[in-house]
Amino acid sequence: MLPRIAIIGRPNVGKSTLFNRLAGRKLAIVDDTPGVTRDRKEVEARLGGRAVLLLDTAGLEEAPPDTVAGRMRASSEVAIRQADLVLFVIDARTGLTPSDRAFAAWLRRQPTPVLLVANKTEGRGGGMAAMEAYELGLGDPVAISAEHGEGIADLHTTAAELLPEEEDPEARDRDRPLRLAIVGRPNAGKSTLLNALLGEERMITGPEPGLTRDAVAVQWEDDEGKVRLVDTAGMRKKARISESLEQMSVGATIGALKEAEVAVLVLDATLGMDEQDLRIARLAEREGRAVVIAYNKWDAVEDRAAARQVLEDTLQTSLAQLKGIAVVALSAMTGRGVDKLMPTVRRTIERWNRRIPTGELNRWFEGAVAKHTPPLADGRRIKLRYATMPKARPPTIAVFGPRAEDLPEDYRRYLVNSFRDTFDMPGVPIRLHARGGK
Ligand code: GDP
Ligand code: GDP
Repeated sequence: MLPRIAIIGRPNVGKSTLFNRLAGRKLAIVDDTPGVTRDRKEVEARLGGRAVLLLDTAGLEEAPPDTVAGRMRASSEVAIRQADLVLFVIDARTGLTPSDRAFAAWLRRQPTPVLLVANKTEGRGGGMAAMEAYELGLGDPVAISAEHGEGIADLHTTAAELLPEEEDPEARDRDRPLRLAIVGRPNAGKSTLLNALLGEERMITGPEPGLTRDAVAVQWEDDEGKVRLVDTAGMRKKARISESLEQMSVGATIGALKEAEVAVLVLDATLGMDEQDLRIARLAEREGRAVVIAYNKWDAVEDRAAARQVLEDTLQTSLAQLKGIAVVALSAMTGRGVDKLMPTVRRTIERWNRRIPTGELNRWFEGAVAKHTPPLADGRRIKLRYATMPKARPPTIAVFGPRAEDLPEDYRRYLVNSFRDTFDMPGVPIRLHARGGK
C-alpha cells in the first residue's frame, strides 16, 4: 500500500499546478476559473524519495456551497480521511484569507499530518505572506512556486519526514525466526560449530527435508528467540569434497545466503583468512547480508595476538565494504567463546534492520556534504540536496540533487563510511543510490 497524499486548499491557490509538478505530467487541468469541473484523480508520483499516490481533490470543490471554508471542508473531508499526509496549499501572493484561517483551524483538529505549503513565492512577492503563514499553527510553511519549480526539493525533504514509516512485511512478524547461514571453506569447522550451538539449545525441529536436494533446515530457540539455520550442502556432504572447492563453496554459499539474513563466516584461525574466505565474505556483502566472523579453532592457535593482527589487517585492506565487521574468537570443539556468537549475531542484525528517521538522516547528510563538498562532474558542480532511507535490510540510502547520478565512486564511499560511523553500523553492507533531478 502506497502512502496517499491529498493536496488541498481553496480554489486557485495552485493545487493542480503542484499536482502536475509532483506527478511530473500534465494530468490535472489547470484553470483560472475557480471551481471549474475537474475529475478526481489518483496518480502515482514520487514524494520525498518514495512512491506515493497523489489524490487530486480539485473536483470535490463542487460540493454544496455555503461558505468557501465550508465547501472546502466538505470537499476535502473524504480525501483527508483517506490520506496519510495532507499538503495544505495557501497562496502567498494574496496572503491569508479568512477561509484559510477557518480551514486551518479545522485541519489542526484532524489526525492526519499536515504540511503547510505557501505557493507562488517566486521572486520576492510571496515572502511576507509566507511569514504570515506561521500564524496558522500548522508548523513551518514550505515556500514554493509550483509554477516555476522553486522550493520543490524542500517540499520533498519535509514531506519525507511526515510520511508514515515504510511497511516492512518481514519485520512485522516478531515470531519469525532469525535466518542464519553458516558459511566457510570445507574443514573450517562449520558442522562442529552447529553442533556446539545446538548442544546448548533446545532443538525444536529438524533435520527436515529442505526445499532443494542438498538443503536441510534446522531450527532452535534460545533466550532471545528462534533461530533457523539455512544449511549449506557443503556442511553435510563430506563425499562432495571431491568436487572442486570453488564449486562447492560458491554454489552452496550463494543458495544459503539468499535465504539468510545474517551469515556467520567460519574461519580456521590457524590458517587465517585467504582469498577463498574473502570471496565468500564478498558474496555475502553482494547479497546484502549482515556478516559476523567466527574465528574458529582458537584453542589451536599459538600466538593469538599475531592471529588477531593478521585478520585485522586482511579485513582492513581487503574487505572495506564490511568495515567494522564483528569477529568472535571461539573454539567450536571445546565450546569456548561459542556463547558470544549469537548475541553478536543479534546485535549485527539489529543494525542491519535499523531505520534512521529522515530528519536525523538529513542532519547527518548536511554535515557530511558541508565537510566535503561533492566534486565537479564535467566542470559542473554536483549539488546534493537531501537524503532518504527507502529501506533497511540492508540499510539503503538515497541521495538526491542535480547531477547526483554522476557522483564518483570515492565520494559515494565517503558518504557510506560517514553514514556507517555516524549511525554505528559496522559489519553491515550499506547501499547508496544517487538520483539526479531537482
Ligand atoms: P487550484 O484551483 O488550486 O488547482 O489552482 P491551479 O493550479 O488551477 O492554479 C490557479 C492559478 O494559479 C493558475 O493560473 C496557475 O497558473 C497559477 N499558479 C499556480 N502556481 C503558481 C505559482 O507558483 N506562481 C504563480 N505566480 N502562479 C501560480
Ligand atoms: P566443516 O567442513 O567446515 O563442516 O568442518 P568440520 O566441522 O567438519 O571440522 C573440520 C575439522 O576441524 C574436524 O576435524 C574438526 O574436529 C576440526 N575442528 C572443528 N572445530 C575445531 C576447533 O574449534 N578446534 C580445533 N582444534 N579443531 C576443530
